[in-house]
Amino acid sequence: MAGDEVDAVVIGAGAVGLACAVELACRLDSVVLIEREVGPGREISSRNSGVIHAGIYYPGDSLKTRLCIEGKMLLYRWCEIHDIPHARTGKLIVATSDEDEERLRKLARHAKEVGAGDLEPLTGAEVARRDPELRCQAALYSPTSGVIDVHELLASFLREVREADGTTVFQTVVEEIGRSGRDWIVRTTDTMGRATEIRTRRIVNAAGLSALDIAEKSGLPPRERPWRLYPCKGSYFALQAGAPPTKHSLIYPLPQGAGLGVHITADLSGARRAGPDAKYVDQIDYTVDESHAERFAEAVARYLPAIRPEHLTPDYAGIRPKLVGPGGGFADFVIATPKSQPGVVHLIGIESPGLTASLAIGAHVSEVIR
Ligand SMILES: Cc1cc2nc3c(=O)[nH]c(=O)nc-3n(C[C@H](O)[C@H](O)[C@H](O)COP(=O)(O)OP(=O)(O)OC[C@H]3O[C@@H](n4cnc5c(N)ncnc54)[C@H](O)[C@@H]3O)c2cc1C
Repeated sequence: MAGDEVDAVVIGAGAVGLACAVELACRLDSVVLIEREVGPGREISSRNSGVIHAGIYYPGDSLKTRLCIEGKMLLYRWCEIHDIPHARTGKLIVATSDEDEERLRKLARHAKEVGAGDLEPLTGAEVARRDPELRCQAALYSPTSGVIDVHELLASFLREVREADGTTVFQTVVEEIGRSGRDWIVRTTDTMGRATEIRTRRIVNAAGLSALDIAEKSGLPPRERPWRLYPCKGSYFALQAGAPPTKHSLIYPLPQGAGLGVHITADLSGARRAGPDAKYVDQIDYTVDESHAERFAEAVARYLPAIRPEHLTPDYAGIRPKLVGPGGGFADFVIATPKSQPGVVHLIGIESPGLTASLAIGAHVSEVIR
């Protein structure tokens, strides 16, 4: 590939980079997707809840809301066309205090206003009839939420890029991005230490937790990159066979702190997990601390009182690329097309619901990078 000239380079083969590469490869003659890991989705994209979100939590005028709602529809359609295992399981959001109940009412109004669909209100008694181990004062049922087999999804994105004659390059790190007239020069090194240069007019920076490093490497001046990333770890514990049974696949409390609250998910095989929590961290470390089982059990016991720490075993963790630190409030996805960098798109802070929104982000990026 040395000295190649291509129509577009996409950096990062997570869900978002892959979805961008699918869109671009269908439209342009030559697209190269570059990933430093050995396969797709080894960072944020395979370390998440695997939930197709409805788009109910974020401000109506935000990219998170718009791209989540669009992305959800595109994703369900993609799953049907490409035969990706998924299920429209619906999701239960539970209120366990008077204050929660008020928040639940607001959330139902908000979801309707932003177009995320009607949420069905349920009383605590109605929930208990269907799911006897659950305790709550009231709940909302979101019928369009679901679960997806993330690995199959990523594999299908990758296949589609290749079928559209896109090139995918793994175990190759983007080291530097330079300029030559109107072109960009992307310099990479592979695991054998071989260096390559690719000349292009378009670059999509979908490097997830490293997206700011790539922005800096591309020479974007500090005044045009006012962002900072705050890695925020979310750990999961697996529910063991003796854990109290639940019928709903997705059971969420009201959002708390930096995350959506420690929820219960059941994947397509029926395996249940509790998580993720939200802990700001200084380094990327995916170990799950066994001693946190008690804290997780306490969080879940608010709506599933019979849960015990011994029902929980450490599973996996993921890290969110948050644009705000502790107590920082809402931050939207950043899809930046800097004036000083024609043809370049930087995707910054693509945390949840980035998996759900991936195809909509891909379509949006393809539009703005014409
Ligand atoms: C705990 C947790 C739970 C979540 N739950 C959900 C959920 O249920 N539903 C949902 O919709 N979203 C969820 N999300 C969000 C979702 O997972 C992310 O928004 C999405 O996966 C981000 O994808 P990405 O492609 O931007 O990042 P990534 O998947 O991290 O991809 C970026 C890629 O860039 C590569 N890269 C970086 N630097 C370089 C370089 N210099 N050269 C080459 N390659 C490079 C990396 O190796 C990586 O593979 C969750 C996230 C977390 C952390």
